[in-house]
Amino acid sequence: MAKYRLDYIWLDGYTPVQNLRTKCCIKEFEEFPTLEQLPEWGFDGSSTLQAEGGDSDCVLKPVALYPDPTRINGVLVMCEVMLPDGTPHPSNARATIEDEPGTWFGFEQEYFLIKDGRPLGFPENGYPEPQGEYYCGVGYKNVGDIGREISDIHLDLCLEAGINHEGINAEVASGQWEFQIFGKGSKRAADEIWMARFLLLRLTEEYGVDVDWRCKPIKGDWNGSGMHCNFSTEHMREVGGKDYFLKLMDAFEANCEEHIAVYGPDNDQRLTGLHETQSIDMFSWGVADRGASIRVPHSFVKDDAYKGYLEDRRPNSQGDPYKIASRVIQTINSVAK
Ligand code: ADP
Ligand code: MN
Ligand code: MN
Ligand code: MN
Repeated sequence: MAKYRLDYIWLDGYTPVQNLRTKCCIKEFEEFPTLEQLPEWGFDGSSTLQAEGGDSDCVLKPVALYPDPTRINGVLVMCEVMLPDGTPHPSNARATIEDEPGTWFGFEQEYFLIKDGRPLGFPENGYPEPQGEYYCGVGYKNVGDIGREISDIHLDLCLEAGINHEGINAEVASGQWEFQIFGKGSKRAADEIWMARFLLLRLTEEYGVDVDWRCKPIKGDWNGSGMHCNFSTEHMREVGGKDYFLKLMDAFEANCEEHIAVYGPDNDQRLTGLHETQSIDMFSWGVADRGASIRVPHSFVKDDAYKGYLEDRRPNSQGDPYKIASRVIQTINSVAK
């Protein structure tokens, strides 16, 4: 037997943006445990806006686990929050996802790194050079001294934890970065975004750096942060066709407000029609169009097949991938194949 350190991780009850919470317990196992071997656990929901003080117990139900690359015998345990009667807590959006096997999601998470109250690269007063050379930039003047270090170590941590991290790049604004995560299965992709967010937050603690997930932290001519949501179903990849695609886009247009409602707060500040976005009250799609709500990749329309994946560019960096995936799937499921 060996002692394992289990870090249970869950989303609290704050609105409109839920916070990650974690607590640790030690348990003995013969070898690295499986999900089935991990017990449910409880926490004080009155301290996380998930219960009243008089009846405060909430239940943590393990749903995914990852080896913790930074600890000996460490296990990162993603949990859903349940009520004592075993039903999902109202804050538990993961439980609302109704996907079919074969649904794939890729999320592109953008964020700012903040030190001493301002994005990396911003001087104490005023602004750094205007946007231009920061995107995929190289060199101290473009990415500073710790931006790349943090994003590289974060990438290593994700890969070692078994997260399907697909890449990183420096983004358009100074101090802004992006990582991409892809998953076959919407819960899988969304769990891994949350776990990657957790690993980034825990890593940046060591640098005295905060992660600003807000979608428009700097006013003016500076890009906001999105979390583009790339998605495909088996039907979209294998059958496709222009008729089906147009019906799908009609359904996305008809449900525009319902989508925006779960695509992250303050999105009106970001979806302005400028900075590679469509405005919040418009819906459009376009081939290779980064000013559209939904970008259709060239590969999708090749040979008039209308097959493959689509990119919804509207979700923002503070969006909850569980809610986003759940809503995208609901709209897809409303369209006859
Ligand atoms: P861009 O910045 O040009 O939008 P990225 O390379 O950053 O492109 O992101 C593309 C995303 O699309 C990746 O997250 C990738 O995993 C995802 N993706 C690729 N193919 C599929 C697919 N068939 N279904 C769902 N997502 C996909
Ligand atoms: Mn990208
Ligand atoms: Mn980007
Ligand atoms: Mn994109």
